Amino acid sequence: MKLPQGMHLLERGWLSSNNVVFVGSERTAIVDTGYCTHGEQTLALVRHLLKDRPLDAIYNTHLHSDHCGGNAILQAHYPAVRTHVPAAEFPRVNHWARMKASFEATGQQCEPFHAEEAIHPGDILRLADLDWQALYAPGHHPYCYLLYNAEHGILMSADALWEKGFGVVFPALDSPGGFRETRATLDMIDDLQPKIVIPGHGRPFTDVGQALKEAYSRIAYLEADPVRNAQNGIKVLLKFLLMERQAIKLTEVPQLLAGIPLVAAANRNYMNYGTIHLAHWAITQLRRVGALAIEGDMVINVERR
Ligand SMILES: [Zn+2]
Repeated sequence: MKLPQGMHLLERGWLSSNNVVFVGSERTAIVDTGYCTHGEQTLALVRHLLKDRPLDAIYNTHLHSDHCGGNAILQAHYPAVRTHVPAAEFPRVNHWARMKASFEATGQQCEPFHAEEAIHPGDILRLADLDWQALYAPGHHPYCYLLYNAEHGILMSADALWEKGFGVVFPALDSPGGFRETRATLDMIDDLQPKIVIPGHGRPFTDVGQALKEAYSRIAYLEADPVRNAQNGIKVLLKFLLMERQAIKLTEVPQLLAGIPLVAAANRNYMNYGTIHLAHWAITQLRRVGALAIEGDMVINVERR
């Protein structure tokens, strides 16, 4: 897929979000920085692309640990870099104790970073000498922006739209919100009619009509019974833990899961399983789809093909 000059996609796995590096005539930037355990790799990839130039700007579409986990290492290596986060998150980022709580809610880690700029809906950013509009896109996360370049019809869709589906509707795990917003964000993307979508995870795609069709069908399925979203959320959070650690002792899974506040909330609100029952259920579900294996007394991560 041909992207405009100066725009480089670093397609990563599922633990780290994709990164898009922009090398413009006046400034350089990265959109989303991956997960912290891949930080060294992220830095090496960015240095390779930028060569002798400094990194001028970091943009985070939203503050999930797999989209901003490389911020700290990039800020350490490029001290003059300016970091741009969604406006609603700006005060929290610079009071890390509050920010930390939101990462802990998912059982994930993120090294502390700071932000210098807030992105508001409708802001126009200049990346690789092109104009990109920041579009507010709640649903998967309440504070998320997508970036759209009208000239080339390119949308960076974060976790609001993937080639198959979209990210967990996290707000719905512990509150009644989220589904309507997810649908409204899909409507907004449908109105834009982008030609190329660069998702937060997975390869870029051009059959946007088909992706939207699948996404609408998925949101209808989840809305019809929110237990499905809760179950999906719990499975995704266990899978994330496994991708991070690769292997977990079978007997440790119940306490690990119970200790993740969002898993506990989703279970309490929608399932009400006991601690061991929940772990057994989640392991069985992921094992059935080939996302994990059991070897001896260990649960082992199995990479998606
Ligand atoms: Zn996300």
